[in-house]
Amino acid sequence: MEKIANYINGKLVNPNSGQYIDNFSPVNGRVYSLTPNSGKRDVVAAFKAAKKAFSLWGQSTKQYRHDWMIKLADAIDDCEKELAKAESFDNGKPLWLAKTVDIPRCSANLRFFATAILHFDSKTHDMDGSALNYTLRPPIGVAGCISPWNLPLYLLTWKIAPAIAAGNTVVAKPSEITPYTAFLFSKICQKINFPKGVINIVHGHGDTAGHEIVKEADVVSFTGGTETGKIIASTVAKSFKKCSLELGGKNPTVVFADCDFDMSVKTAVKASFLNQGQICLCGSRIFVEKSIYKPFVKEFLKKTKKLTVGDPSKKNTDLGAVVSKQHLQQILSKIKDAKDNGGKIIIGGKALSLGGRISSGYYMAPTIIENTQYTDPINQEEVFGPVVTIMPFNSELEVVKMCNHTNYGLAASIFTNNLSRAHRVAAKIHFGLVWINTWLLRDLRIPFGGMRQSGLGREGGYHSLNFFTETKNVCLKIENNNNI
Ligand code: NDP
Repeated sequence: MEKIANYINGKLVNPNSGQYIDNFSPVNGRVYSLTPNSGKRDVVAAFKAAKKAFSLWGQSTKQYRHDWMIKLADAIDDCEKELAKAESFDNGKPLWLAKTVDIPRCSANLRFFATAILHFDSKTHDMDGSALNYTLRPPIGVAGCISPWNLPLYLLTWKIAPAIAAGNTVVAKPSEITPYTAFLFSKICQKINFPKGVINIVHGHGDTAGHEIVKEADVVSFTGGTETGKIIASTVAKSFKKCSLELGGKNPTVVFADCDFDMSVKTAVKASFLNQGQICLCGSRIFVEKSIYKPFVKEFLKKTKKLTVGDPSKKNTDLGAVVSKQHLQQILSKIKDAKDNGGKIIIGGKALSLGGRISSGYYMAPTIIENTQYTDPINQEEVFGPVVTIMPFNSELEVVKMCNHTNYGLAASIFTNNLSRAHRVAAKIHFGLVWINTWLLRDLRIPFGGMRQSGLGREGGYHSLNFFTETKNVCLKIENNNNI
């Protein structure tokens, strides 16, 4: 059985304990590799390497860092097919999705921040000629980067790229559920002789390896669940280190009667079920204006029926496997609770047994639930699977209230052809990201992140570069010379 290795100081190394965790493929439910069960000693070794590397990398020129990052991006592109295949098998997502979204975004993340650092600037504050304040933005030190399983290498590189572009070094941990592409990424770094110690990857459980990384790091960037975010926030609070938290969501899709009907249905289906509904931005609460509620549900159901759940490697597969057996059971249990509360399943609601080589995989039918209240647990708690509720609303005022009735505040989509209404509603709902007549249209420069329990801080463009740098003001007094 293949053993995944940690990547520390430019070398692929085994965990100190010699212990491993089974790595299952959700595609067929079988263990196909072993993940290091790393502990404190592995994390300490990674930080030692990262601290040493920081003394050079942190002092290097922006151009030097840019050139290395572009080299790494090129090397990722060279391995695009292998990476996409591995991501699909490790996570269960359709291969076409890994090929068109996940893996291209890994190299795009590196290219974007490699270039952004060349354009990064800072302010000066002139005191009427008597002094000049200028702001320096030095790197912080060693960044701890922790990412979840839904977009494994995509999100890991989304953190590593701005951290190293700004001059930090990194100790990163992918989710132990989806470690494989981070391992391939380590091999790519090694192959191109990426400066040793700048990127270190330690595999293992969150509450052991992850917790040690959070304790050791000078700055922490985390994407994952809200409950984990609370634990991390309380750990970093003791040392006041900078921390960025991108957490869960319970995102509304709001459809007004004056929308472009066909486009809205099509986009709402995509927002519900892409990546098996396992994207933090997926719209899992669909609110439809009463006058078009029935035709909308009919068309939404028709389109959902056409979705193919199946072997992720097949071109016509719309939904692959959900990430793990445990996650599948959690999704099913949330559906059962919704039913117990009076929810009506109009399609799906069950796991699927597919035949052949994928017969033991974790497949789930896309599920639509009607007849729920916006206050029900199914409309409050994140399901993070191919499950949506649809509810009618009567007025703008009412739907704003329904949208905001959640502890989360990550993303929302509004469908309407009334420009003023679009603005009004976007302004009134408490979500960090609002799309109008679209979903998941991403510009890497925008402030990305959630309000309330969906997170703390913003990522993207200069927001990420600001986060991964200190802000230091230097005040230079200017002596008057009356002879000039
Ligand atoms: P988790 O919070 O369970 O895990 C995220 C990462 O944190 C994993 O690498 C995990 O390791 C690690 N971890 C767990 N406990 C600790 C700890 N005590 N200290 C340090 N690290 C720890 O999230 P999931 O992996 O289940 O991902 C799904 C969640 O991520 C959803 O809630 C989703 O909404 C959210 N998400 C948010 C996004 C955003 O941008 N806002 C984007 C994508 C997902 P391990 O898995 O090995 O235990």
